[in-house]
Amino acid sequence: MKLANVDGRAVLVTADNAGLDVERASNGKFGPDLASVYANWDSFRSWAEQAPSGAEVSFTRSQLGSPSPAPGQIVAIGLNYRAHADESGFAAPDRLPPVFTKFVSALTGPDATVVIPPGGNVDWEVELVVVIGRTARRIGEDEAWDHVAGLTIGQDISERVSQLAGPAPQFSLGKSFPNFAPVGPWLVTPDEVPDRDDLRLGCAVDGETVQDGRTRDLIFPVARLVAELSHTITLSPGDLVFTGTPAGVGMGRDPKRFLRPGNELTSWIDGIGEMRQAFEGEREE
Ligand code: ZN
Repeated sequence: MKLANVDGRAVLVTADNAGLDVERASNGKFGPDLASVYANWDSFRSWAEQAPSGAEVSFTRSQLGSPSPAPGQIVAIGLNYRAHADESGFAAPDRLPPVFTKFVSALTGPDATVVIPPGGNVDWEVELVVVIGRTARRIGEDEAWDHVAGLTIGQDISERVSQLAGPAPQFSLGKSFPNFAPVGPWLVTPDEVPDRDDLRLGCAVDGETVQDGRTRDLIFPVARLVAELSHTITLSPGDLVFTGTPAGVGMGRDPKRFLRPGNELTSWIDGIGEMRQAFEGEREE
């Protein structure tokens, strides 16, 4: 099942630009918004599996918002691929990876335009993003996937100057400028991807591939990550978890490379889809 946010309404996706409006197809039982769908995720899934019909809608990419537009929390993970920890100059984590947040005000849909802050070194980080479907508190790894509603693509866009200024890294601030958390194009349930623990993901700048990895290389795979996080924080339906980026970020290159006004960033995950961000400079006041 694929679930999209079309102008704020939950839509079961049936083709790249068409689907069923959830509220109308369910006669008001679910929806209209995404948050209420995640709040009733188990009964929504049962209903959606019975192949509902009617209430067909068509949409364009510009109507798509984040598949979870109002998460209570966005949890983000650092250094979760060995080759990326290497290029960042850090040891790979063993007990727990670094955990930070991308503030919710940075969240946007799959095809946003991103303004580069003045003097900023803006970098790309394609990531598999998990959408939580059931409250998770101190759960085991073996039950973690049952608490996941689905998977989507995220870009953990990062401004490295502010991230690295000061005595300790400012991960959360440096990664939370407006539109620095594009997510989409829709949620795909784990049963619908080729292998939920081995998805190919990558991104390209102006058509040149800069990251190309596989989620089987996650040091903390999805199930372990969700279980470990749930021993500290309570994960709630609609929460997003950015699971970390593979190697190939601009900061890890020699010479370093950052996004410039006019660049287009394309990100993809096999079995999920694609996102596109255009970058522009700050306009003079
Ligand atoms: Zn990241």
